[in-house]
Amino acid sequence: MTLACAIAALTVAFPRPGQRMPPVDRCYMIGAAARGVTNVVVQGRDVPVYRTGAWATLVDVAPGSNTVEVVCGGETTNRTFFVEAKPSSPPAAAPERKWTKVEYTKDEARPHPSGKSPSEITIVVDPGHGGGTDSGAWSPHGIPEKTANLKVAFELRQALTNLGFKVVMTRESDVALNLYERPRCAVTNDADAFVSIHHNAPAYDRDPSDPRFHAVYAWNDIGKRLAKSINDRMAEALDGEFQSRGVIHANFVVTRNPETPSCLVEADFITSPEGEEAIFDPCHRKIVAEAIAAGIADWCR
Ligand SMILES: [Zn+2]
Repeated sequence: MTLACAIAALTVAFPRPGQRMPPVDRCYMIGAAARGVTNVVVQGRDVPVYRTGAWATLVDVAPGSNTVEVVCGGETTNRTFFVEAKPSSPPAAAPERKWTKVEYTKDEARPHPSGKSPSEITIVVDPGHGGGTDSGAWSPHGIPEKTANLKVAFELRQALTNLGFKVVMTRESDVALNLYERPRCAVTNDADAFVSIHHNAPAYDRDPSDPRFHAVYAWNDIGKRLAKSINDRMAEALDGEFQSRGVIHANFVVTRNPETPSCLVEADFITSPEGEEAIFDPCHRKIVAEAIAAGIADWCR
């Protein structure tokens, strides 16, 4: 799939039609223009079009139903979505929630695989999201994150297989998976490590053209050591292109595993025009996947 042929005319990829937003004063809007169009007009303001046709901007919104007009060449599109009202009094502080491990895991970390050959080491690769109702974030051309995650995951499986590792994937097609099934896959396959692949999006009220970054999220020390090896290789491979935010603590379902070293890679921003172009470039995807694989191999030593 190339971005140029992904659309015939004007696309508004986000907000989705009828989407419900939390109480925000502004939200990001992204889309793509037909070939040859150099700017689009959103809420009366000119928005530059990136070389692939992608555009990204912030729009002002109010509580209730919002309709935003987008003019592109001779075409006008209206996108209607809903913004929740701000609560009249500050919400009561939520009770502090104690994040615990994923229940079916053991309490002890499995032995580190050093000394084993790659053919004795199993890595679970988890392409995030999937199925009809969980698409993840959207690219300006309207390609869902679940598709990008699967493409990088296939490339990662190839790179790991080339290094001699055994690889199990949590999904190999566009199917829905319960969030808890994903780390369970690491336990049932007696895996040495678990890596979830995602692509980032900003908070609803942040500018989607803010600088991109990549980061690796983990919950405990065994996950963070794996995350650091992966992040170091990604930072080296992507140096000069975009920044690393390093290893970030995260109590995600897929990272709260005391038994199997687990982490989640946010490889790029799918919402940014430059990020989208990179993610859907097969050569770039290979560089990212090989860096993740090299990081896993470093961690195994
Ligand atoms: Zn995601």
